[in-house]
Amino acid sequence: MEVRRTVPVKLDVSDSDANLLSETIDEFLWAANYVVGVASNGDWVETRASKLQSLTYDDVRDATRLHSNHVQSARNQAVKALKSVIATWKRGEKASLPTFTSRFCEYNHRNVTFYDDYATLSTVEGRVTVNYVLPDETRHTPHAEYLHSDEWEKTGATLHHRNGSFYLHIRTKADVDTPDLPENGTVLGVDLGVKNIAVTSTGTFWTANEFNHWRREYEKRRGSLQQCGTRWAHENVQSVGQSETGRFEQYLHRVANELVTEAIDYGCSYIAFENLTHIRENIPEATWQHVWAFRRLYGYVEYKAAKHGITTTQVNPRNTSRRCSSCGFTHEDNLGNDTMCCQKCGYRNHRDYNAAKNIGLKLLRNQTGAEGGAPVGVRLNSGMLNANGLTSVPGLGRAGVHAESPRL
Ligand SMILES: [Zn+2]
Repeated sequence: MEVRRTVPVKLDVSDSDANLLSETIDEFLWAANYVVGVASNGDWVETRASKLQSLTYDDVRDATRLHSNHVQSARNQAVKALKSVIATWKRGEKASLPTFTSRFCEYNHRNVTFYDDYATLSTVEGRVTVNYVLPDETRHTPHAEYLHSDEWEKTGATLHHRNGSFYLHIRTKADVDTPDLPENGTVLGVDLGVKNIAVTSTGTFWTANEFNHWRREYEKRRGSLQQCGTRWAHENVQSVGQSETGRFEQYLHRVANELVTEAIDYGCSYIAFENLTHIRENIPEATWQHVWAFRRLYGYVEYKAAKHGITTTQVNPRNTSRRCSSCGFTHEDNLGNDTMCCQKCGYRNHRDYNAAKNIGLKLLRNQTGAEGGAPVGVRLNSGMLNANGLTSVPGLGRAGVHAESPRL
């Protein structure tokens, strides 16, 4: 199975190269807009790429200094945008013809060459070298790994120009083996928290003790060093920060590896997390270090899972702690300190474990009516939970509720 990822990288560019890139973008956008103008001359809109190629290629080559591949990419962008407008018209909705204003330019393997820390890009006047801005802090992030791994082939990129800076959105792909991937997706739900950093719908808990211990040590050492107030102390604060960050990261890598192994062992093709954008609203006790850890963990899991053909995704966490994963009854009173106790059906279990199952179920509900390959069940440690609240046991078809006690 082929998996694709896009990696955004900020670029470090000299002033003269920045001018060339900017002029390239200007001419690329001009070319795309020119093709739209030719395509929509009169009542008829032409969307055939070959026809538009012969109608516009020579004109664009004459009018611009663009590389021939840029001429073709600009035309492809125009065709794509025109087709989307026509699709809108066919649905009986209004839409105006496309105009390209957002500053970007497409690159494929013929006009970009990727190296470990830089790339060379065709411009309107030869090639320029652009250096990747990868601060040490992000060296070991999944993003950097996509760039530096031989398993991920770089297939092309989009150059963006925003607020005076250039960014390269590098497209990568990898072929992954998926021998045991179930025909219909099974979901592993994951709940994040400050007592247990992660709990899965299969009932596996990763406590946050180790993480919280390091976090407190870090704050303590930083506090006492900061009181000294000297330059020496300041430098030490920074080095404490770096070594502790390294240890946090190692710990998160381990949790991520174990989470992905859990998904593989249970034949899951999806891993569902709660949405991380507003995580503090959902977990008010979380410190900035927790939020940092959750995002890192998600990134590591996404990267590692992709290699096994497992899709990692986020769902809206609304009501996932208040809802009973057994009968669906949702109420504030269901929630105890560590336990969730359903006021309607009497179901009791660990609140994080209950939430992990609900997070998995959210993904099923989101996908209802989707085409083939949509997730069908949330994996429990034995058995399966589907959107109707029924559980099934692998090989036995749908049956009653199984394996409700978490594996601690
Ligand atoms: Zn209930």
